[in-house]
This record gives sequence, C-alpha cells and structure tokens, in this order.
Amino acid sequence: MRLLNVNIQRHVDRSRLVGELLFNDPVGRRELYIEVAREHETALDTSGTAFVIAALLPCMKLGEDLHAGVPHDEHLLRNLDELMRVYHMWYPDRLKPIGVHLSGRAMETGNTPPTGLGAFFSGGVDSMQLVSRLLATPAYNNRPVTLIPVHYDGARLSSAKTYDRVATTAQHIAIKIGGSVIPVTTNLVTALYRETVRWTEEGYGSAMAFVSHALSRHLSTSCIAASITYWEYWPNASSAFTDPLWSSSSLSLHTIGSELDRVGKLEEIKRNGHARWLDMAHVCNGLEPGKVPNCGVCEKCRRTIIAMEAAGVLEEARAAFPERATRDLCAVAKGITCKDTWMVDWYAHFALALRRRGETDLARIVEHRVKHYRPSLLKRLWHAASQTPAPQHSPQAQNAAL
Ligand SMILES: [Zn+2]
Repeated sequence: MRLLNVNIQRHVDRSRLVGELLFNDPVGRRELYIEVAREHETALDTSGTAFVIAALLPCMKLGEDLHAGVPHDEHLLRNLDELMRVYHMWYPDRLKPIGVHLSGRAMETGNTPPTGLGAFFSGGVDSMQLVSRLLATPAYNNRPVTLIPVHYDGARLSSAKTYDRVATTAQHIAIKIGGSVIPVTTNLVTALYRETVRWTEEGYGSAMAFVSHALSRHLSTSCIAASITYWEYWPNASSAFTDPLWSSSSLSLHTIGSELDRVGKLEEIKRNGHARWLDMAHVCNGLEPGKVPNCGVCEKCRRTIIAMEAAGVLEEARAAFPERATRDLCAVAKGITCKDTWMVDWYAHFALALRRRGETDLARIVEHRVKHYRPSLLKRLWHAASQTPAPQHSPQAQNAAL
C-alpha cells in the first residue's frame, strides 16, 4: 500500500482531512476521510500519520507492505512493530506482520506544540466514567477536556441519529465542565475496514487511534474508555494493553477504567459528583432512540438498569429510560438473558453489590437468571484455551527447556 496524497478539502462549513491510499488489486485506490466543523480545521494533522495508523491492520490482512512519505518516528515504529506481534499472535492466519516504511522528514517541533486532552465519547457509562476520572485526577485535570463523539459511517452501532444525540449530550457535559467538543465523522468503515478488518475483534481500537492522530494538531493526549477489565483480557480491538501502542512521540493514547467493572464505574461517577450526567446516558443497542435515550427492555438496558441500582445511582439515571421500564426492578431482572460466559461474571458482580446494599431479593433473581447458563462446547473450549498461556512463552517452559 502507498499513501499517495493527504490534503484538506472544504465543503461549506465542514473540513475534511483526506488521504488517498493505493493498495494492490483488487482493493485498489481508496479515499479515506475524517470530517469536522470548519471551526476545528486547525486540529487536523496533514502529516499523513493518521492514514498509516488506519492502514496497518488492512495491510496485515492483505499481506502488503506499507509505504508512506510521513515523518519517520522511531517511537511510533517501535509501537507498530509490537502491535503487529500482538495481532499476529491473536490471529496468526488472518493478520501477518508486514514492513512499515516511513520516508518523510523528521517531525518539526513548532513553537507551540499541541497540549489538548481528548476523551472519546459515545454517551454511555464507560465514556461518562472516563470524563469523570479525567476531571478528578490531578495528572489530567489541569487541562480542559475535549470530548470526541465519532460517527463511523457504516459501522453497525453508529447511526447518524444516535450520533446526533451523543454529540448533543457531549455538548451538555462540555458546558458543565468547561470543556469543548469536536464531533467527528469518518468513512473508515465503508471505505476500508468493512472488507478487511473485523470491527469488534480488531478494528475499533485502531479506528480511535486513527481519529486521535488525525486531530493531533490539537491533541497531545487521547483517552479511551476501557471496554473490558483487566480480568477479561481476551483478544479485543481496544484494551489498556494495545491502545497505548498506537502512540507516537508527540501523541499518547491511554485507556482509562480497566480496573473497574460496571458497578465500580458507576460508583466512581457518583463519588466524583457526576451522577446527574447519567440521565443523559445512551446505552441501548436495540431500537433507534426515541424521546428517551434507551428502550429499557433490551439486554443491554436491563443490564445497565440493574448495575445502576447495584451502584445506588438509578434515581439520578431514571430519566434515561421509559418510566415503565424501571418501575419494577424484579421484572427487569426476570427478563435478563445471559448469552455469554463474560455476562455470568458481570451479573455475579452485580448480585454481590446488590447483596451489599441489602437488596437480597433482587440479587437472588439476578443469580437465578444466570446460574443455568451453559455455554456451548465450542465456547467452553475457546474460553478454556483463552485462559491457558501458550506453553512456549511461559517462564516455566523456558526454564524446563534450559
Ligand atoms: Zn435498550
């Protein structure tokens, strides 16, 4: 793959950072863009680094070396090399290491290097905990936070309507905290990832890295809400393990909140005095949002309602769900459908927290709903395999070999 060209195109009140990528046939020429309001154009970085980030996994899938006239950055190259080792170990048949050749001049450090602190914002509990943490952490709170809602055109859970709602929520929170918002739209999925990269297992972490680097004339730190905990370290597109490896010498990526489960995140939001944000939370993967952000009856909504009750924040969050959905919590719990091993662990934590609050009846229903879950043989084998370290990398095996 060759990065042919990077430029900025202007459309009325919008500005697009556009990269032209040329892959071998049959993929051929692709035009990737990231679009922001004209007022945010100064955040767009034209060095081309963002397009190297975006193209890495597709190139690994296609088995093509990556050539780009972007600034040679040793730190970034070392990180990309390590990322390739990680992804290849996870998916040895799908993603193979390739050569990355950056031939541009070293980055010039301007008089005023960027200092922006970004936080990806999808409107859910994870993003709210991320913003809450940034405000409450001395290492971060000396800088205003820039919230970044992203519409990945064509991604399964990223509709334009949901994006508008999330962007509006981001604006509300930014006003409350003295921060700002850069809403972003990109065609990364439709232009490239849909054919080459699996979104959940491989893609969405590098997609956030792509957006971070595209905005790196403004950002020096970009924060991502943890989607899995340290206990759940299965191969995943975004984690505290891989996200920082998308960092360059001028932009660092962090994952926040991996040490907390859902209840722990909600408790932290409350402890930091931000529970009032939760009535704007958008967690629903079911219906298109109507007057309230969430349907209240799908598995994700039920899971969130129970977690909110377990964390003692449901009163503050009630307006995020239809009134009837939170009236009878036992009915909510009775509708829980457990579909995966990790869900059993999550609900077990919720039940424990409910028992701590003295809500024994509700805890019992939650436990009852998940205790009969039996994963298929294939899932059990996969789960067992994922819990077992590869013998050739264990210190015991190496010692034995010596
Ligand atoms: Zn729902």
